[in-house]
Amino acid sequence: MSGPAPTRTTVCVVGGGPAGAMLGLLLARSGVDVVVLEKHHDFHRDFRGDTVHPATLRVLDQLGLIDRFHALPHQKVTTIGVIQDGHRIDIADFSRLRVPYPYMAFVPQWDFLDLITAESARHPAYRLLMGTAATGVLRDTDGRVSGVRTRGPDGAADLRCALVVAADGRHSALRAAVGARPKLIGSSLDVGFFRISRRPTDPDEGICVRVGNGKIFGATDRGTYWQMSYETTRGGFDRVRHAGLDAFRADLAALVPFLADRVHELRSLDDISLLEARIDRLARWHRPGLLFIGDAAHAMSPVAGFGVNLAVQDAVATANALCAPLLRAQRTGAAFDDSLLTKVRRRRLVATALSQGLQRATQRFGIDTTLNGSGQPPAPRLFERFRPAQLLMSRVIGVGFRPEHIRTPPARPADHEKDPT
Ligand SMILES: Cc1cc2nc3c(=O)[nH]c(=O)nc-3n(C[C@H](O)[C@H](O)[C@H](O)COP(=O)(O)OP(=O)(O)OC[C@H]3O[C@@H](n4cnc5c(N)ncnc54)[C@H](O)[C@@H]3O)c2cc1C
Repeated sequence: MSGPAPTRTTVCVVGGGPAGAMLGLLLARSGVDVVVLEKHHDFHRDFRGDTVHPATLRVLDQLGLIDRFHALPHQKVTTIGVIQDGHRIDIADFSRLRVPYPYMAFVPQWDFLDLITAESARHPAYRLLMGTAATGVLRDTDGRVSGVRTRGPDGAADLRCALVVAADGRHSALRAAVGARPKLIGSSLDVGFFRISRRPTDPDEGICVRVGNGKIFGATDRGTYWQMSYETTRGGFDRVRHAGLDAFRADLAALVPFLADRVHELRSLDDISLLEARIDRLARWHRPGLLFIGDAAHAMSPVAGFGVNLAVQDAVATANALCAPLLRAQRTGAAFDDSLLTKVRRRRLVATALSQGLQRATQRFGIDTTLNGSGQPPAPRLFERFRPAQLLMSRVIGVGFRPEHIRTPPARPADHEKDPT
């Protein structure tokens, strides 16, 4: 739907990442008027989480989107492995799970988000404003959040609504706007990303992290190229710069030998995009009129690719808990009952805290041990000796601690579906 930017809606979702895009679809599908704001003009950013877990595939299936998802360029991956000094250990094998989609799919996140937002656009209750950022919150006279101030292609504007959902990621502007400070869990990491070309003769590795010589490299198969990652302590990239490009290329060739003949494709250390990975969590996920979900409520690190899945699960839980009362408020004009907002954190907290705990433990006993040079992380060997641990880890990563199922009904097609042609 195009036309002038709306000034009023039922729900304003800030952020078109996995959490916000999925919530926008679920609400609009049930007939809740929703405006999703995304500050960028497209979803085409590299180095975002590309992992779609079995639990998210189940959600896509419930939405009738699984065939269109499978038509996107993707790789199915059944194992997650660690290669320690040349020896591979599988820590998860999704093919052992009894689930409808026993694999992790690697899909460029922009394709995933394009699919979700294209499906959303079929519902008349939905508006997506690209290139439009929330810059602050609007408040009623009693201090309740009643909308957002936006900046988009046509300048600044106000958007009023019954509920604002902040799904604006780990640097959430809305968190800052209401003075909500997350608690940092563990120390941050710097993760560098770069590309090296892929050849048909390269190994088919699934997801594999290579560990050795105090270094950690990861490789993700993107068809024509490898999306490489390099993990280091916060600020540790200064040491890489000091050692220089040739030393970095030598480390890469040593840990990923099949790339040794093309490390020169990395022309400069400036070709490496550096992102901070942190784990944090808000004590309260809501304020009157405002709810935080996804990374805005609990930032996830890349470990085990939990973040995208948790963001989607938050969206499903939010829609399950709030869709009916939002529809009621929309139909009757009655005020939305803010006491319902506690339901979302109550539902998601245990799964979130356990996932973050696992990320923190992996960082502390795996990543930090490697990076500070105090030896090889012992954990991967446990998976070799104790097979049930592999099954458990496959379940925890693939399905999560509390998988969500969509319980919100679609609006009657005659009322809400637009003709897809
Ligand atoms: C280096 C790194 C690598 C990672 N790799 C993986 C991985 O491989 N697999 C995985 O599952 N997880 C990974 N994660 C974690 C994952 O990226 C997040 O957990 C996940 O993206 C959270 O989704 P979200 O929708 O909550 O937030 P985000 O994905 O951050 O989306 C937030 C959206 O809000 C938009 N936005 C921000 N501010 C505003 C504003 N003021 N107004 C409007 N829009 C706004 C942003 O442009 C963005 O599109 C990684 C994290 C890091 C740091």
